[in-house]
Amino acid sequence: MLKKKAIISQKSNKTAERKTGKAVKKIRRAKKNIATVTGMRDILPQDQKYWEKVRQVAKQISIDYGYDRIDTPVLELTELFVRGVGAQTDIVEKEMFSFTDQGGDNLVLRPEFTAAAVRAYIQHGMLNQIQPVKFFYLGPLFRHEKPQSGRYRQFFQFGFEAIGEENPALDAQLILMGWNSLNDLGIESVIQVNSIGCMSCREEYKKVLVKYYKAKAKLLCESCKTRLTKNPLRLLDCKESGCQELKDDAPQILDYLDDNCKEHFMKVVGYLDELDLPYVLNPYIVRGLDYYNRTIFEYWAIDDVEGKNALGGGGRYDGLVTMLGGREDTPACGLAMGLDRIVAKMREKNIEVPDKRVDVFVAQLGDAAKKKAMLMYENLRPNGSFTIAQAFHKDSLKKQLELANKMKVKFTLIIGQKEVGEGTIMLRDMQGGVQEVIDFNKIEKELKKRLEKYREGAVIDLTADEEEKESSTEIPEEDVADLGDLGDDLAAV
Ligand code: ATP
Ligand code: MG
Repeated sequence: MLKKKAIISQKSNKTAERKTGKAVKKIRRAKKNIATVTGMRDILPQDQKYWEKVRQVAKQISIDYGYDRIDTPVLELTELFVRGVGAQTDIVEKEMFSFTDQGGDNLVLRPEFTAAAVRAYIQHGMLNQIQPVKFFYLGPLFRHEKPQSGRYRQFFQFGFEAIGEENPALDAQLILMGWNSLNDLGIESVIQVNSIGCMSCREEYKKVLVKYYKAKAKLLCESCKTRLTKNPLRLLDCKESGCQELKDDAPQILDYLDDNCKEHFMKVVGYLDELDLPYVLNPYIVRGLDYYNRTIFEYWAIDDVEGKNALGGGGRYDGLVTMLGGREDTPACGLAMGLDRIVAKMREKNIEVPDKRVDVFVAQLGDAAKKKAMLMYENLRPNGSFTIAQAFHKDSLKKQLELANKMKVKFTLIIGQKEVGEGTIMLRDMQGGVQEVIDFNKIEKELKKRLEKYREGAVIDLTADEEEKESSTEIPEEDVADLGDLGDDLAAV
């Protein structure tokens, strides 16, 4: 009987252990750290300076060429891209993050900007403005692609669109703008240019292309077999090595351009020559989207000879405004650059971007001084000519000075009890270690004067302007007493 009881209790112990084990696992699972969604990533503070640099250059280009910023919503109606980009494109067929919202609308996280820019042009009646209407945009896009290096599910583009003009000078200028943006960032690139003509030249060309590929259909990859019937131009765009080999002998679109398209393209190329831009005529770039016609182009980094990671691209899309319900015959041209790949290239090439500069650190010791320093900070903050930092959450002067040192500030303002009483402040030149006591009301003026001299590269002459200051490399005895351990701290920095 006892034995039986013991067995029962052993069994129930095991069951209890199993149960506890399961519960622990469940809790662990529930507590598992939550990470970013597949293909999406954080851009951390230490990487921001590269992104900011790219944004700055993009904004400058938009100013230089007169393109005005537009921000469109991240969510759009799915129909915009089905009609605009094309139902048979990779983007619409497989890459859109789409869903039906609570109200039953079919929405999509925007996969590209051009269709949205054209929607805005039509929606706000911009055809009544001076043409072309020139947009600049910058923001995130979403495509459900296979994540890999240089390919994310949330990525960023900046771009320019000029709607309402067909002059080839515009195509050339847009090509130049994209190239300039890379060049201004220190990235060497080669422009790949092609013309895919208008609808009618393309129809003619598609027929010969399909004929060529049909004879070799067995050698094509699975996607290309489908492209053969659905979107034959994209056969030329395939990155599979088997398909790449076949394309070498494929007929070339440039031989099928009609006279108008040929003339337009020759003019574009003529401008590129005149501007002395590094370009190659590449009959195999076709771009993935349905709306393109005539000039199309991509930017490949100089060492990306196969264009596996294009940094940007664009082209003319004369039919899109009409396709989206706008006025017939509204020509347009644009380009988009990928920030993710541009930033990656800058890092790969060790392109330096300077760290954020802080000129002045405000340090304090003691409660009264902290209060005064906080107020002073607010007065100094909008000074317009120098940047300031602080660590009011810290009480130790030593720790504050260490931080100031780490930030490589030029000057530190130090305020303690004595300074509060006297209406003065101690100004320390971090490079020379020289400090002087200055009148509290003259801080901004004094800092500006000194920083200006620094920027001019001049050595600051501390003996000039004798009555205004009590300069010394030593902290006066009484200051050391009043500021507690300030003397030791300063000596240690
Ligand atoms: P790819 O041929 O490389 O797929 P794409 O033709 O689809 O590019 P566009 O739609 O023309 O690209 O976008 C212009 C630029 O945006 C690309 O040259 C690239 O720099 C960037 N880009 C496109 N898709 C992604 C992505 N999934 N992740 C990161 N950047 C991207
Ligand atoms: Mg793509």
